[in-house]
Amino acid sequence: MLHRLAGTFCYHLGRGSKSDFSDCLLDIRRNACCYGGIDFYDWCQDINRADKDLSFCKDSCSDAIFPGDGVVTKPKNSEVELTAYCGLYCGDCLRYKSKAADLVRDLQNELQKVKFDKYAKVKGVFVEEFKHYTKCREVLNAIVKLKCDTPCRAGGDGCLQPCEIKSCVQTKKLEGCWECGEFEGCNKFEFFNLFHGDTAKENLRKVKKYGLEEWAEHRGKFYRWL
Ligand code: SF4
Ligand code: SF4
Repeated sequence: MLHRLAGTFCYHLGRGSKSDFSDCLLDIRRNACCYGGIDFYDWCQDINRADKDLSFCKDSCSDAIFPGDGVVTKPKNSEVELTAYCGLYCGDCLRYKSKAADLVRDLQNELQKVKFDKYAKVKGVFVEEFKHYTKCREVLNAIVKLKCDTPCRAGGDGCLQPCEIKSCVQTKKLEGCWECGEFEGCNKFEFFNLFHGDTAKENLRKVKKYGLEEWAEHRGKFYRWL
């Protein structure tokens, strides 16, 4: 809630940068703490969630640090790390950027707390949909498992385990497929065509053209349906 409040303040004050946003949060924290209104730990949690909520805080951040009176957030992954071995940009991946998995986990906790499974069983006599509650739970579990916060080039497990592209690049001791002379004709990219079409190879050409630090702003759409 705190970060939403800060976002609103920042917006109306025309303060859009990340440091302005942190300043807003600090102001609010100081006031709220004076009145004993917030818990310090909860406040840290809010800071970590805030960056993904607001358009002017696009970079993912972690590890809120409190050196005395200040707040320092450090970027979680750099643009370079977000460039996957195959040329996809992990920062655009639903599994990395979406809050869906965290929200569903919160929902699961709440449903468990109120013993919703028992409720659905009894209520299913009147509400047809609740007869499928077990199936619904399976879907929720699958969404929670989607969460990925470490890109493959930053040491994450990757999209598929094992990923043929990842192991091929590592075997060749390359930084990524953009350094491979065979990528135009390589057929290891076919397994994700349904999701990404030709984006990965198009991106690889961009990495070669603009360099690893500069290419991302020219990247193609992550999913075919975007
Ligand atoms: S795990 Fe494999 S397919 Fe997924 S982003 Fe990394 S290299 Fe690409
Ligand atoms: S052969 Fe080259 S392009 Fe294909 S996966 Fe291996 S490193 Fe990437």
